[in-house]
Amino acid sequence: MLLGLDPEQREVATTLRGPVCVLAGAGTGKTRAITHRIAYGVRSGMLMPASVLAVTFTNRAAGEMRGRLRTLGAGGVQARTFHSAALRQLQYFWPRAVGGELPRLLERKIQFVAEAGARCRIRLDRNELRDVTGEIEWAKVTQTVPADYPAAALKAGREAPRDLAEIAQIYGTYEQLKRDRGMIDFEDVLLLTVGVLQDRHDIAEQIRAQYQHFVVDEYQDVSPLQQRLLELWLGDRDSLCVVGDASQTIYSFTGATPDHLLDFRTRYPQATVVKLVRDYRSTPQVVHLANGLLGQARGRAAEHRLELVSQREPGPDPVYAEYPDEPAEAEGVAGRVRDLIAAGVPAGEIAVLYRINAQSEVYEQALADAGVPYQLRGAERFFERAEVQKAVLALRGSARSGGSDDPLLQDVVELPSQVRAVLSSTGWTTEPPTGSGAVRDQWESLAALVRLAEDFARSRPGVTLADLVVELDERRAAQHAPTVQGVTLASLHAAKGLEWDAVFLVGLTDGMMPITYAKTDEQVEEERRLLYVGVTRARHHLTLSWALSRAPGGRASRRPSRFLNGLRPGSAALGSRPGGPEAGAARKRGRRGPALCRVCGRTLTEAGEIKLMRCEDCPSDMDEGLYERLRDWRAGQSKLQGMPAYCVFTDKTLMAIAEAAPGEAGQLSMISGVGGRKLERYGADVLAICAGQEPAGADPDDA
Ligand code: ATP
Ligand code: MG
Repeated sequence: MLLGLDPEQREVATTLRGPVCVLAGAGTGKTRAITHRIAYGVRSGMLMPASVLAVTFTNRAAGEMRGRLRTLGAGGVQARTFHSAALRQLQYFWPRAVGGELPRLLERKIQFVAEAGARCRIRLDRNELRDVTGEIEWAKVTQTVPADYPAAALKAGREAPRDLAEIAQIYGTYEQLKRDRGMIDFEDVLLLTVGVLQDRHDIAEQIRAQYQHFVVDEYQDVSPLQQRLLELWLGDRDSLCVVGDASQTIYSFTGATPDHLLDFRTRYPQATVVKLVRDYRSTPQVVHLANGLLGQARGRAAEHRLELVSQREPGPDPVYAEYPDEPAEAEGVAGRVRDLIAAGVPAGEIAVLYRINAQSEVYEQALADAGVPYQLRGAERFFERAEVQKAVLALRGSARSGGSDDPLLQDVVELPSQVRAVLSSTGWTTEPPTGSGAVRDQWESLAALVRLAEDFARSRPGVTLADLVVELDERRAAQHAPTVQGVTLASLHAAKGLEWDAVFLVGLTDGMMPITYAKTDEQVEEERRLLYVGVTRARHHLTLSWALSRAPGGRASRRPSRFLNGLRPGSAALGSRPGGPEAGAARKRGRRGPALCRVCGRTLTEAGEIKLMRCEDCPSDMDEGLYERLRDWRAGQSKLQGMPAYCVFTDKTLMAIAEAAPGEAGQLSMISGVGGRKLERYGADVLAICAGQEPAGADPDDA
């Protein structure tokens, strides 16, 4: 089991005791390492399957993890989302903790929020309604009650769509409405579970007796409420393994924060911390773009970024495609998708990813026109489809009657053929129907069931139809859909953790990426991370496209995403002149290959170390006096311009300057963190200080 892991991954898999934290970039095998860890623990007898709870972010990821665990011989381990794990516990303990049945789950929160708004006589337009709902969700996951909302929102710097007091009033009314109708919402499931665990020690002890080991994937996006729940599950124990990538934090708008991941060591000083940098998913070309994107990132997550190193054979360069309008873009993408399929890439290995769901329609149309099968419906909808329910009913009936009184089944023994026979009675055919309408959709669903049965029979030889029905019930309970053989259409948020051979990132205009309503620096940074998540979904082919206007004949007023500046051919990096020192340095770095420590020669992966051009703990040849003088000068600049010192130069850059003590502008410009603008603005000062002279005192308004 450990053979398929590299040494660092193996360390994760074999460290079964105590807290473990894996900090690693996209595609480095985090998810793979933790599934192997669980399976290794179970198979070596160190972990009891029933005592492990693995928590992942989406139902689909949880379903996939269960599948992988089963294949690795560790079925029986619970892999769930926080939500579904909490819901299960709540359902079980509700009669004892509260009495009666658990209230019904509210499916469409936004309708209730609209109603609450109306009761408060506050008219909300569609966007406001969406944003107020978002604010209520944020308040709930940060455990903020309506009365405290205005102060908390102010403190957190929320961009609220309405007056804070108004939102607090709507929030309070919304809660009342739910109570009156005996309903709970998505966040209540976690809140109530936390409440029960906090108040009822007997119940908390019972849950803790059951679950003793916890594994959390995508930990960078844990919300304060989920974190609280995790702490309550753990009690005073520390058998916790978390994995995440701060650069993939894409849910902070809902209150999630990578701080729990980044501060894991502070919380658990004895923790084993493992870093992975080998990217097994993507080609060097894709990885180069991903690294370039992150190279421009700012903020806390960016400080902890790890430079990825691709382990794959080279592949095609990313393709950048500009179109006059959106339908043309969709048509172009559909055409390329068709070409890829013709060239042998399975449709299920292709994804078209966009920023918001409303963008899907034009792609549905274009793919249908091109005769390309696709699946759009969210993974959770699969078992709700009429044709799937009918098919499962037929399979259940056949399993009950033992299959033997059905003449079709008399001679077939193998599960897949039994399933095919039963499903032919509900409309499945060996060949797909022509066309791409509803009939095709239904066929795709049934074909997915057939494939599911085939996979199931392969992973567990000797299974029966009855076993399959149990499996389907379990999957339905977890709302996990099998992959339909079609191109995936999904939002970037929904693509987290997944991978495809070919990925199309579409609609990459400024305004969509970053989206117009991302205003603050933090919001823009989150958008950049979202694009990073998109780029790193691709194994081999990556296409990035945008359209200059929305409709055919419209004014070409749009521009490609600013995040691609300096990365796509023919574009200049933001803040630097074309061919300026920054671009030159980047080019030279690109040619030089990976950054090496100038003291010991090791490959550097941490952004901070790359800046220093040496390992953190390799001896420094820094001129301490120079460093101090540079710091004093920086403090003066920071005061003069009323901005934080790190905006002038970060500590790392100052250290690098003090180590290099550059004698002229060319040398200074080679230091990472000294871009074209900074060179212009501070170059003379810094060079003067390095030469032991007094800086002339640059006037910041000159720049
Ligand atoms: P993300 O950040 O996107 O969630 P991840 O770090 O969880 O990515 P995985 O999904 O576990 O990465 O792995 C990415 C791909 O690399 C998968 O296809 C996985 O099977 C493969 N992979 C991971 N580790 C290895 C390895 N040691 N040898 C071969 N393939 C590997
Ligand atoms: Mg993963």
